[in-house]
Amino acid sequence: MGLGSIPAVIHYSNTPSLHHPIRYWCGMTGWNRWRTIEEVRADAVVCCRCDLCYGRTHVVFGEGPTPARLMIVGEGPGAEEDRLARPFVGRAGKLLDTLLADAGMRREDIWITNVVRCRPVIRSASGERNRPPRADEIKACDLWMTQEYRFAAPELVVCLGAVPAQALISRSFTISEGRGRWLEGRDGIPTTATYHPAYVLRLRGQDRRIIESQMLEDFRSAARRFAA
Ligand code: SF4
Repeated sequence: MGLGSIPAVIHYSNTPSLHHPIRYWCGMTGWNRWRTIEEVRADAVVCCRCDLCYGRTHVVFGEGPTPARLMIVGEGPGAEEDRLARPFVGRAGKLLDTLLADAGMRREDIWITNVVRCRPVIRSASGERNRPPRADEIKACDLWMTQEYRFAAPELVVCLGAVPAQALISRSFTISEGRGRWLEGRDGIPTTATYHPAYVLRLRGQDRRIIESQMLEDFRSAARRFAA
């Protein structure tokens, strides 16, 4: 972004700390100053609006066509996504691709993203592992979600897990009560939620078969609406 594109009106509302020089820059939302999704991506990949920027390898921006009739939203990048800068390319992504194909959908027709675009991780002596993003991190990253909604302009949204569903449908959403139901989501868009594929990968035997078949049912429901 050149200095010439700094907006006349500067909005700070989502900025975690205005005293941090990079965050100060990233807080200048001027929400409609981006003319294409590639312009948004170019600014997002240097974002430091929350502390997740310090531990990441790459910002994992959404990918897919714009517009895209269907948007899929997960929690946040994992290790493989952080390494490759692409959403859902690890084991969970492979399961997602399989379920989409089984439901008759193609990944390349869908905008795929996460509620945070940098990997949330817990580091300890035994290594590092993924953690769910915190509310303040989701709020900081909402600037980019707004832009992804703007350019992808989805007609349907599928949330993977409760975290994105709480951000995009209702703060009180639970998978046990709301899974598979089409509800009014952000911007009034019909939105549903199913399990996160990473959760399914932790299950074994009959439990896994049951949850996987419920996920497939949910994707088939999305496919029917997609084709309508
Ligand atoms: S998670 Fe989002 S808001 Fe936080 S640094 Fe990454 S891109 Fe910016």
